[in-house]
Amino acid sequence: MRIGCPREIKNHEYRVGLTPESVHELVAQGHEVWVESGAGLGIDAKDADYLAAGAKIVDGPDPIFAECEMVVKVKEPQAVERAKLREGQVLYTYLHLAPDPEQTADLVKSGVTAIAYETVTGPGGTLPLLKPMSQVAGRMSIQAGATALEKAHGGRGVLLGGVPGVMPGKVAVIGGGVVGWNAAQMAVGLGADVTILDRSPEQLERLGMYFESRAKTRFSNKANIAEAVCEADLVIGAVLIPGAAAPKLVTREMLGRMKQGAVLVDVAIDQGGCFETSHATTHAEPTFVVDGVVHYCVANMPGAVARTSTYALNNVTLPHALAIADKGWQQAMRENAHLAAGLNVHAGMVTYEAVARELGYDY
Ligand code: NAD
Repeated sequence: MRIGCPREIKNHEYRVGLTPESVHELVAQGHEVWVESGAGLGIDAKDADYLAAGAKIVDGPDPIFAECEMVVKVKEPQAVERAKLREGQVLYTYLHLAPDPEQTADLVKSGVTAIAYETVTGPGGTLPLLKPMSQVAGRMSIQAGATALEKAHGGRGVLLGGVPGVMPGKVAVIGGGVVGWNAAQMAVGLGADVTILDRSPEQLERLGMYFESRAKTRFSNKANIAEAVCEADLVIGAVLIPGAAAPKLVTREMLGRMKQGAVLVDVAIDQGGCFETSHATTHAEPTFVVDGVVHYCVANMPGAVARTSTYALNNVTLPHALAIADKGWQQAMRENAHLAAGLNVHAGMVTYEAVARELGYDY
């Protein structure tokens, strides 16, 4: 199969659909890979690296959209890219169609076969192509929070690990799923005093078994959240209720009872945020202050560590890309129901029930 990887053109997107190592794997299986010149510069992968891996470098995106049977990307295609998609072509990327009627209409019109990373499933109803970005955001949340705690960034001047003779900082992680677990690992690694709150008894048990005495676990209810938040130097918001906006677990009233210069990192901001006072920010201006409490609410945290994020993403997207390239998407999906769950649009039809229902398409 001829596979193409264009440069990402969405504002501030530095990741790339295929790493040189992934290209190497595809070429070794007998496939042809075309990479747009400069596509990997955001992760310091040069054209020469792709050439050495066996890719053909092409100028601009047009040859890829015109002649490749599968296009591998990271972000949803932008309007100018959508205009180039065509019937019979496979598009393999993050799409997030439900809140995006314009994109959905364009994909339907194009006749493309669109496979969305975010709906590909794994055993036990997991979403393995979303997981690495949650791992990245969780780990980064502690890094971002630690920086925001510095005086020069508006914080209360606390070093999370403390030093011998001085108490460590207190970290409260609300939501102990993928993001929260990874946040807690980083905070524990720094030597902070960590409490994880979740409302799932099973998840609390798993967290308790893993962290043992290195972190405390607490059932998430209003009273326990209020107490943990008011004692904390750093609070990580990492809850998710699938298919729903994040619940507002930290109210404006609680801010007044928090320590001055404490930091809230709202990782759940892409689902509306779990703090009442959150609003989405960007990497260019990541924080703002409300009632003396610093808020960090960047909606696309993994973008800041594009190289790590690209490699983490390729680790989980490549096996399916190889299967699609080797067998064709129909056969690959017949053999793997988890990949089949990724099919969102095909030949002018919306093929993913939740998207069809949300946007009023026949299913
Ligand atoms: P997950 O499903 O793995 O974990 C969510 C956890 O929240 C679960 O353990 C659940 O039991 C818990 N929870 C639900 N309601 C709760 C409550 N009231 N109190 C305490 N815990 C509660 O989800 P995840 O992958 O960890 O993602 C968490 C959030 O981070 C999501 O909103 C996701 O979209 C977001 N996210 C943001 C970024 C970013 O760049 N900002 C990146 C990745 C993920």
